[in-house]
Amino acid sequence: MIPFVDLKLQYKNLKSELEEEIQSIFERATFILGDDLEKLEKDFAEFSGAKYGIGVASGTSALETSLRAFGIGPGDEVITVANSYIATALAVSWVGAKPVFVDVDPRYYTMDPEELEKAITSKTRAVIPVHLYGQPADMSAINKIALEYNLVVLEDACQAHGARYKGQRAGSLGDIAAFSFYPSKNLGSYGDGGMVTTNSRRAAEFIRMLRNYGEIEKYNHIIIGHNHCLDNLQAAMLSVKLNYLESWNEQRRRNAALYNNMFKLWKLPVVTPKVADYSKHVYHLYVILANKRDELRAYLGKRGIQTGIHYPIPIHLQKAYSFLGYTKGDFPVTEKLSEGILSLPMFPELTQDQIYEVVSAIKEFYS
Ligand SMILES: *Cc1c(COP(=O)(O)O)cnc(C)c1O
Repeated sequence: MIPFVDLKLQYKNLKSELEEEIQSIFERATFILGDDLEKLEKDFAEFSGAKYGIGVASGTSALETSLRAFGIGPGDEVITVANSYIATALAVSWVGAKPVFVDVDPRYYTMDPEELEKAITSKTRAVIPVHLYGQPADMSAINKIALEYNLVVLEDACQAHGARYKGQRAGSLGDIAAFSFYPSKNLGSYGDGGMVTTNSRRAAEFIRMLRNYGEIEKYNHIIIGHNHCLDNLQAAMLSVKLNYLESWNEQRRRNAALYNNMFKLWKLPVVTPKVADYSKHVYHLYVILANKRDELRAYLGKRGIQTGIHYPIPIHLQKAYSFLGYTKGDFPVTEKLSEGILSLPMFPELTQDQIYEVVSAIKEFYS
C-alpha cells in the first residue's frame, strides 16, 4: 500500500517533541491567544518575509478576513481562478462580494495575467491569485495590472508554504496572503488552522480584532467580529513543525525530481509538472496529466496506490455557483485539466522505492 500522504509516519518521527509541547500547554492551561500563538505568528511571518502574521481558524477564514480587512463587500467583484479549491471563491461570497473567474496558463495551471486584465470591470476591487500545488502564480505580471487598476492583491498561499517567486517567499508577494494549516498541507496542524501574513499594520490590527469578537480590549467591541482564532495548542504543534518545513520542502522537491526522471527515462505518455523560471516549487501536490486518467486511477487503486484529483469539478461548474451563470466551455484550459489531471503520492517521507513502484505501475498500465 502506498498512501497519498502519510501523517502517521510524520507523527511517529515527531512524537516526543510534540508531546512535550502538549504537556507544557496543559500544565500552563493557555488555550486561547497564548504565547505559543504569538511565537508562531512572529516566526511564520518572518519565514514568509512579511511583517505581520495573524493566526486564524482556517485557510478559508484567512481569505475571508483578508478581504474584509480591505473593505471588500457587497457590490464588489473579486477576480480569481476557476482552477482552485472552492474555498477561494467561498471567501469572496461570504464577504458579500461576487467571485469572477478567469482561466489559467496552460503551462503552469496558475492565473493567466492576460485573462485577469480582460475580466476587470469598474466594480473589480481585488484579485486572488492561487499558488496552485505549491508553485507561485506570475506575481510580477499580476501586481503590475493590479497597480494600474488599483486592485488589492490577496495571495491564496494555502498550498505554498515556503514557495518562492523570484527568490521572494509566498506570503510577501502581494498586499496580503492567506495560508491554511489543514492537516495535509505542507505545514499542517492537528485540526483546522490558518494564518494571514501582510506588511500592512492596519490590516493586521483589523484582523486581530475581527478574529477575536471584534474587541479592541477586553469587553470593548468596536466591530462585528468573529470567533476565528487559531488555537494555542495548534500553534505550538505548528511551531515544532515549522522547524522542519524547509527540509520537508527540499524532500518534496527531491521526490518530484525522482518522479520526473523516471517518467522521462521510460518515455511514459504523461505530462509532468512544469516549473517556471521564476519559481521555487514546494510540491504540495505532484500532479501529472494523463491519458485515460480515470482508468489509470482505478488501475493504481487496485494495486494499493492512492491518488487524488485536484480538482475534478472546476469552481465555475459547481452547483453552488450555478447562479453566476457560467457554462461548460467558458474556461477551456481549466476544464481540460480537470479531465486529465492526477495527483500522485507526495509527502516528504515518501521513499525512492515507493516512487519506483508508482511509476512502474503506470508503465505497466500503458504497456
Ligand atoms: C486548503 C485550501 C484552502 C482552504 O483552507 P482551509 O484551511 O481548509 O479552510 C483554500 N485555498 C486553497 C487553494 C487550498 O488548498
